[in-house]
Amino acid sequence: MDFRVVTIFPGMFDAFASHGIIRRAIESGRITIDAINIRDFAEGRHRVTDDRPYGGGSGMVMKPEPLVRAIRSARDLCPASKTILLSPQGRRFDQQEARDLANGRGVIFVCGRYEGVDERVYENYIDDELSIGDYVLTGGELAAMVVMDAVIRFIPGVLGNEDSPESDSFSDGLLEYAHYTRPQLFEGESVPEVLLSGHHGDVKRWRLESSLVRTFLKRPDLMEKREFTPEEKRILQQWSRRIESIIRPEAGENE
Ligand code: SAM
Repeated sequence: MDFRVVTIFPGMFDAFASHGIIRRAIESGRITIDAINIRDFAEGRHRVTDDRPYGGGSGMVMKPEPLVRAIRSARDLCPASKTILLSPQGRRFDQQEARDLANGRGVIFVCGRYEGVDERVYENYIDDELSIGDYVLTGGELAAMVVMDAVIRFIPGVLGNEDSPESDSFSDGLLEYAHYTRPQLFEGESVPEVLLSGHHGDVKRWRLESSLVRTFLKRPDLMEKREFTPEEKRILQQWSRRIESIIRPEAGENE
């Protein structure tokens, strides 16, 4: 899959592309990442990419001409790719969006700077607008890396183990279970016995219960949105019975 990033800071992507899983994905030919420098499409000795906003006010706006030329050049290279503007005003990016983009035919990320892009660029050259959260960054580059990283994990073969992204948090609407590694005993605390048992069925059930507990404690909002499987319902009903037995009224309390 091809990723093109339209940016005034292409150098920011060098470190991203040269470490760990992303580097291996590039080396194995599963992905390409190309940062396209908007300045290369700007005119004049200073190759200016921003200008003052009409109507006055503070800050600068990205000039449309060099930005559009950079986007067009990215599209010429990858005509089937979707053009996405990173913006705090966009739809919130999530794991489902990452999976959908990984099933697509490439992405051109447009990174804003200053106060953002000229509205006419947004209206005529952008297919979708994504935000990585309700806060404002100085530029879209870090957001583009966040989105790319999450998408790349879903590209077949990238993680080595094909099942990995699907067992991660959010993939089935729950947070992932707790993890342990050696040593078995660390600062007086032992690994849960069941994980040492070698019994796959018990380990699977423990992990499901761990996922449910963690989601309930850390992100109860996810549970409210979710349909539960019969096995999950059984686990939740067992907790419910246990909780009820703990808080059962003392004799005479309800009288
Ligand atoms: N003036 C804009 C506003 O209030 O909506 C914010 C501009 S921000 C300083 C500069 C650029 O950073 C944006 O054009 C966008 O590309 C990027 N950016 C900032 N916050 C972001 C977020 N939460 N998600 C994605 N991109 C973001």
